[in-house]
Amino acid sequence: MTDMSEPYSQATGELLKIRGLSKAFPLTKGFLEQLHFEGGRLVRRRESVKAINGVDLDVKRGEALCVVGESGCGKSTVARVVMGLLEPTAGSIQYDGERIDNLPPERLLPYRRKMQMIFQNPYASLNPRLTVKQTLEEPMRFHNPGIGNGELKDKVRDVMDSVGVDPSWRDRFPHEFSGGQRQRISIARALMVDPEFIVADEPISALDVSIQAQVLNLMMDAMEQRALTYMFITHDLSVVEHFGTRVAVMYLGSLCELAPTRTLFETPRHPYTKALISAIPKLTQGRPGHIKLIGEVPTPINLPAGCFFHNRCVYADDRCKVEKPVLHTVDGGCRVACHGVQEGRVD
Ligand code: SF4
Repeated sequence: MTDMSEPYSQATGELLKIRGLSKAFPLTKGFLEQLHFEGGRLVRRRESVKAINGVDLDVKRGEALCVVGESGCGKSTVARVVMGLLEPTAGSIQYDGERIDNLPPERLLPYRRKMQMIFQNPYASLNPRLTVKQTLEEPMRFHNPGIGNGELKDKVRDVMDSVGVDPSWRDRFPHEFSGGQRQRISIARALMVDPEFIVADEPISALDVSIQAQVLNLMMDAMEQRALTYMFITHDLSVVEHFGTRVAVMYLGSLCELAPTRTLFETPRHPYTKALISAIPKLTQGRPGHIKLIGEVPTPINLPAGCFFHNRCVYADDRCKVEKPVLHTVDGGCRVACHGVQEGRVD
């Protein structure tokens, strides 16, 4: 598999700028269930799942930024908010200098073409009633209503060819394809409208291991040939090591570390990142032994005070229990949210 850490030097300027992004999902409870006694008084408390909590993140033009973390850490919610599938509770998103999270639908339309998404499950993301041809034509007709039939036919053929699906299969339905081929068709659908930026949410995790590398290589080739920028959501660090130019590590809806891929794997700084890297099978030679995390991930309904990781961190002290760390820059182009790193207590 190609190593993607080198092209980072080609990444220039921010294409996407996320600031203070938060997303909370209200828990729908009945009125009586929302009532609680506090200080001898009956109060109504509305609870919510805080999926993202004040995320600041930039995606540079031409890079593949991987967002990693355990399931439930909020990485897929970030992807959906960026793509406008979910409304943020707070914060802002800028694309190429323009704020897009509060645009009316008609002004959002050009960005819907430039920003495409590839979903995790190729079985669910393709309409079973549409042939490959119809699936690929649909976004093109939507964004370019004046396109002629001949041009559209050529475009479908070229894109199918570029993702390794035989163009003569264009009249087949999704159920006639394997999982890997369906994901190729999903990628083709995203490429049809010549996007600049692709958000890929766990695009290979539903595929057989034997074809994961093929689909990753296809995405890398498309990136190179079409000058794409990726936000790649994954829980699999061994994929990140080959695919990502930079990595953002999330825990409980917050960013704990952001670093160039090679730096993150060679010298992880945040205690949570250290534990994640140490847990990669077969790749731990020359790296510290497996760090076993203690304790449970706190509930995103009642987030702990201070550092969200403090109940599981062997470096936690009194400051960590009350003051939430913010990202600060350390050497090597890394940003880490950890009091222990900042104070030199974490090596
Ligand atoms: Fe551990 Fe404190 Fe750093 Fe959080 S801020 S990761 S508790 S040392």
